[in-house]
Amino acid sequence: MRFVHDTLPQRVCFGSGEAAANVGNEIGNLGASRVMLIAAPAESDLADTIATHLPVALRHDDVVMHVPVEVADRAREAAAQHNVDALVSVGGGSTTGLAKAVALTTGLPIVAVPTTYAGSEATPVWGLTEGAKKTTGTDHRVLPKVIVYDAALTMSLPVEMSVASGLNALAHCVDSMWAPNADPVNAAFAAEGIRSLAVGLPRVVTDPMDLDGREHALYAAYLSATAFASAGSGLHHKICHVLGGKYNLPHAQTHATVLPYVLAFNGPAAPDAERRIAAAFGATSALDGLVALKRELNAPRALADYGFAEDSIAEAAEAILPSVPPSNPRPVTAADLRALLRAAWSGADPETVF
Ligand code: NAD
Repeated sequence: MRFVHDTLPQRVCFGSGEAAANVGNEIGNLGASRVMLIAAPAESDLADTIATHLPVALRHDDVVMHVPVEVADRAREAAAQHNVDALVSVGGGSTTGLAKAVALTTGLPIVAVPTTYAGSEATPVWGLTEGAKKTTGTDHRVLPKVIVYDAALTMSLPVEMSVASGLNALAHCVDSMWAPNADPVNAAFAAEGIRSLAVGLPRVVTDPMDLDGREHALYAAYLSATAFASAGSGLHHKICHVLGGKYNLPHAQTHATVLPYVLAFNGPAAPDAERRIAAAFGATSALDGLVALKRELNAPRALADYGFAEDSIAEAAEAILPSVPPSNPRPVTAADLRALLRAAWSGADPETVF
C-alpha cells in the first residue's frame, strides 16, 4: 500500500441541542467580537437560536444558490462596512458557500453550522456563478475553522430536501472511490458514510423528528465531505457541476438523480469500489444497494422533473467531456455521456443503460 493523504485542519463539534453553546465557545476561542451571522430566510429561526450567545454585529440573509458574484459582492461590502471579525453561517450549502465567498477575499474565519447534508463545511472548495457559468476553486482560506454539527437543527429540513441532500452526501462517498486523489483513507471515510446514510435516511423518511436517524445522516454528511475534499471531483461531480451551473438545476436533486447512472457506468470497471460500496450497503451489488435505497426513500428520479430539457443533452455532453478526469476507471466518450444524460433525463432503469 502506498499513498499520500492530506488531512485538513479543522475542529469539529458534534452534539444535538448544543449548537448555541458550541458556537459561543468557538467564537470566544477565536477571540472574535464582531460576528457576521449569515442565514437564508428559511434558516432564520435556526439562526435565532444561535444568535443569543454571540456578539452579532450584522445579520445577513441575502443567500442565493450557487453564489452569484453580485450576491457575493454585496455580502463582502456589508462585512467591510460593519467591520466584522468572524463569520458564522447557519444553513445549507448555499449559506456556507456565501460565507466562503466572503472569506475568500477577506480571510475572515468561518464557524459553519450546517443544516443540510451538503457537506460544503468540510471542504476548501468555493463556488461562484457569473451568468450561466459556475466557477469553483480550492483555497484554504475558505475552509471553516470550526464546524458545529447539531442534528436538532436539521429536523425542520423537509423530508424531500433531506432525501435529496442525503443522496448528495452519498454521491460524495461513491465518487470518492474513484476520484483523482482516491486513497485508502478517504475510501474508509466514504464507506462508513454510505453505511451511516443507509441507516439514517430511511429513519428520517419514516419520522423526520427521529433524532437518531438525523444524527446518522449528519455524521455521514461530514464523513462524505471529508472524503470528497481529499479525493477530489470524480466523473459524477464533473457531470453535476456542468448541469448545475449551465442549466441552473437544483444541486442536491441533480446529484440524487445522476448518481445511479454514474455508478452503473463506472462500477463494472472499478471492482474494488464496487465491492466496498456493495458491502457498505449490505447489498449483493453496489447498484442494487443504491437503487433499493432510492426506492425506499422515494428519491428524485429524473432530470426532466427539475427542468432539464431533452434537447440540451448533446450540448451538456460536449460541455462535460473536457472535464472528465483522465483517471476515471474507464474511458468516457461523448456518446457515453449522451447515453448517461438521456437515461438520467428520463429516469430510465440504470441496470439497463450500459
Ligand atoms: P441550500 O443550501 O440551497 O438549501 C436548500 C433549501 O433548504 C434552502 O431554501 C434553505 O434555506 C433550506 N434549508 C436549509 N436548511 C434548512 C433546515 N434545517 N430547515 C428548513 N429549511 C432549510 O441547498 P444545499 O443542497 O444544502 O446546498 C447547495 C449548494 O451548496 C450549491 O450551491 C452547491 O454547489 C454547494 N455545495 C458546495 C460544496 C463545496 O464543497 N463547496 C459541497 C456541497 C454543496
